[in-house]
Amino acid sequence: MSQPSQHTTSAVLDAARPAVRAVGLRKTYGRGDAVVHALDGVDVEFARGEFTAIMGPSGSGKSTLMHCLAGLDTASAGQVFLGDTELTALGDRELTRLRRERVGFVFQSFNLLPVLDAAENMLLPMRLAGRTPDPAWHDDVVRRLGLTERLTHRPHELSGGQQQRVAVARALLPRPDVVFADEPTGNLDSRAGAEVLSLLRGSVREVGQTVVMVTHDPVAASYADRVVLIADGRLAGGLTKPTPDDVLDALRTLGA
Ligand code: ADP
Repeated sequence: MSQPSQHTTSAVLDAARPAVRAVGLRKTYGRGDAVVHALDGVDVEFARGEFTAIMGPSGSGKSTLMHCLAGLDTASAGQVFLGDTELTALGDRELTRLRRERVGFVFQSFNLLPVLDAAENMLLPMRLAGRTPDPAWHDDVVRRLGLTERLTHRPHELSGGQQQRVAVARALLPRPDVVFADEPTGNLDSRAGAEVLSLLRGSVREVGQTVVMVTHDPVAASYADRVVLIADGRLAGGLTKPTPDDVLDALRTLGA
């Protein structure tokens, strides 16, 4: 058998390297009697091209974990890596740049700017970074997300589902290393929520996007390839190819 070329070897290594990983991650709020160990030593990896849901009881540390993984919050101890880059070693300015260039966000409340139309909202993070998307990729994202007829509409002229699809397009256009979604269906009815989840899953299956989503909804989690469970600031197991019932059972075991 012939030796793999240097190129093939590095491509294989690249695919094997997790998109995001946390090592001994701790986050403490308050001090003395009022101290809260929101994250109490979390070791976790998120593979490239995988859709992972983070789930756990209310107050278990899901949002804190996502915020630390995305560089939106600082850790008290431990390390976070985005690919080879240690986020926990970066200063504020480098972190802002990294978030802008390598991370996409989808929030529960859409976070679109009301004075900009859909097309401008979608492009804003790239404009801020002085970049323009590849036109073919831009058209592909707009078409996939069913936004072709909505580009000149402002957020108040769009339904919640359409606004969240604009937010998903905004997250996908820069081709970030990871898209972090924080309760992306929390403000949507079940049909619009299912559409947004299908689009996130499609971005993983069809273009190899990595997506990490926090949700409390077992149906939303069932769109993911994997569920990571967290309880009391610690990893509490996981599920692969979960059904809503699998997720409900796992949450019940955690006392959620
Ligand atoms: P979840 O997202 O699973 O509901 P969080 O990550 O929001 O959980 O919170 C984990 C724990 O950290 C909870 O006990 C919460 O009260 C606490 N916590 C979160 N943010 C803060 C903060 N800014 N100040 C103090 N405590 C906080």
